[in-house]
Amino acid sequence: MTEAAKPPATAPRPAGRAGRNTELPEHLKVYKGIWVFVEHDRGHVNPVSWELMGEARKLADRLQVSVAGVLLGGPDEPLDAFAREACAYGADLCYVMRDPVLKGYRNEPFTRGLTDLVNAHQPEIMLLGATTMGRDLAGSVATTLGTGLTADCTELNIDGRALAATRPTFGGSLLCTIMTLAFRPQMATVRPRVMAMPRRDDSRTGPVVEMRLAMVETDIVTKLLEFIPDASRDTVNLAYADVIVAGGKGLKNADNFRLVWDLARVLGAEVGATRAVVQAGWAEAERQVGQTGKTVRPKLYIAAGVSGAIQHRVGMDASDVIVAINTDASAPIFDFAHYGIVGNAMQVLPALTQAFRAHFERRVRKTA
Ligand code: FAD
Repeated sequence: MTEAAKPPATAPRPAGRAGRNTELPEHLKVYKGIWVFVEHDRGHVNPVSWELMGEARKLADRLQVSVAGVLLGGPDEPLDAFAREACAYGADLCYVMRDPVLKGYRNEPFTRGLTDLVNAHQPEIMLLGATTMGRDLAGSVATTLGTGLTADCTELNIDGRALAATRPTFGGSLLCTIMTLAFRPQMATVRPRVMAMPRRDDSRTGPVVEMRLAMVETDIVTKLLEFIPDASRDTVNLAYADVIVAGGKGLKNADNFRLVWDLARVLGAEVGATRAVVQAGWAEAERQVGQTGKTVRPKLYIAAGVSGAIQHRVGMDASDVIVAINTDASAPIFDFAHYGIVGNAMQVLPALTQAFRAHFERRVRKTA
């Protein structure tokens, strides 16, 4: 090695966590309050924003701080109506940025707008939905601000004054709690339906604080030329379904999986599936429930031939009522199902379909 190529003679860096700064610097101690990024698209707010608002309210009450909704959009978008809704779901005030370049989501202007808002108003916690938009925006805002972001959280808590954000790790076999101690804001994303929808109270109102975007169209590399809706989008509304009939590998083949569809049709339910089923090609990927699929919160979840592996469970165990059908009485799903049927799904599913059909027909005859 030549003299010039030698590494500089600095003190050896301690391995592991030793030496890491976990103290919040003085200038970040003024950061206060909790923000929820209110995601909207084509005139509709994504309900995950209201789910987060409910959660933010609980955290803020513990910290004794305010909750703010943050809205970015075009001048002709109903941002004021969304701000009123944000207050009805728990916000104390809203920050609004409107500009023609904010009409339709693009990463650059939204990142600039949100980071400028954060730098101006200094929230200590910022929550976003773990949606396509939220994931894209949260990552670039956290990177621009040089702060920590915990993605896909399943639980949010307060520990001392810090946000304790819990999420699955090691393939879902463990849960870890992550805290951003030395940076602000503390950022987290949460998937739709992980948190419960709060009650709406239209008597709650709050002020709107406006801020201008310091960016013009010519600063932005990406151009929005046209909007082409995804034809398959919204055809499967699993996350917000009230009733789901899900099938697992215990159904043995694609033909038997049709029994899940038969029961779902009679109940007016959506069809869900385990990853094993999706991998076998018996159901589309949008129907997968679990850690790498959708999180659901239906009133009724019927699981047939599903073992109840932790990666499936994390996506559905907030369901109000879980009914499991499995031949193996010691299958993990029976540990958390509310009702269990130990039996062959190929017999139980048609029996349930027939019984429900007869029940609904009787009801129709009675009311006719
Ligand atoms: P199996 O585990 O094979 O279970 C089949 C069940 O059917 C058994 O309990 C059996 O007793 C029962 N059975 C058999 N015959 C019958 C019958 N005739 N009638 C009734 N019951 C019967 N999985 C997900 O579902 N969603 C995810 O998002 C997901 N993400 C993952 C992410 C990672 C990183 C990893 C490593 C795994 C993930 N998995 C996920 C896979 C998960 O670990 C399980 O392998 C999967 O959920 C098992 O699917 P299953 O219950 O259909 O199949």
